[in-house]
Amino acid sequence: MRLNGKVALVTGGTRGIGAAICIGLAKEGADIALTGRDKVAAAKVISTVEGIGKKTLFFEAGVTDKNKMDEVVAKVEEQLGSIDILVNNVGIARDSLFVRMKEDDWRLVVDTNLTGTFIVTQAVSKLMLKRKQGSIINISSVIGLAGNAGQANYAASKAGIVGLTKSLAREFASRNIRVNAIAPGFIETEMTKRLSDDIREKTRQRIPLGFFGEPEDVAAGVAYLASDDARFITGHVIVIDGGMAM
Ligand code: NDP
Repeated sequence: MRLNGKVALVTGGTRGIGAAICIGLAKEGADIALTGRDKVAAAKVISTVEGIGKKTLFFEAGVTDKNKMDEVVAKVEEQLGSIDILVNNVGIARDSLFVRMKEDDWRLVVDTNLTGTFIVTQAVSKLMLKRKQGSIINISSVIGLAGNAGQANYAASKAGIVGLTKSLAREFASRNIRVNAIAPGFIETEMTKRLSDDIREKTRQRIPLGFFGEPEDVAAGVAYLASDDARFITGHVIVIDGGMAM
């Protein structure tokens, strides 16, 4: 129980990796606030976290709405207590070859993944800076490190998250706030289930360990970075990908 008495805010906690992060942090002892838009999916996460014996709050909120996210952060602090851990997990993809990429799809992906991370982090970090304590974990992707044909918007947003992470790590280090990123490889979620069998098999062949990751593999990395076990780690990207990007 490395996170007893801590409060975590997880964006996009209703499904996939975000849901596993909520459950993983709760198992380590943290109370959990999660955001998302799907109330039915949220209800399952809430009941699992409550089953573990931790408090939980769900906020139906999109990460790009600054006023709404300011309100969410204020309510979490009022109802659960000071936010110790922020996990910026929301991420979407709208893939197409670059020459055919619609400006709307570029903007939507960069706005949701990168600007959303900016909005939520600014709201939470102001409070963490006053308290001189906190751990911020941003979910990037191996695509943000290596690029990928057909995913220029997604790769740019995820590379942007790495730059944001490293800049904030430098800005916040003197106030005892650590900022790190995780770059998952291929993880089994709704995002990746949409891919064709052919792409899945080709991807699997590029993974030295020979299998896809599960959301819990990413959640384990988040719990580690959130805990004092990682007290000497800031500004880094932990790659969780079965060896794909080495
Ligand atoms: P899913 O599509 O399964 O889940 C995405 C989550 O984000 C959902 O909880 C969804 O909630 C929420 N969400 C999406 N858009 C918004 C928004 N605008 N505002 C608030 N919440 C939103 O994705 P994954 O679990 O696969 O991915 C999670 C993160 O991991 C993403 O950042 C993704 O880029 C990254 N990643 C995933 C990989 C993979 O292989 N799966 C690989 C590398 C990185 P709701 O539907 O309730 O709105």
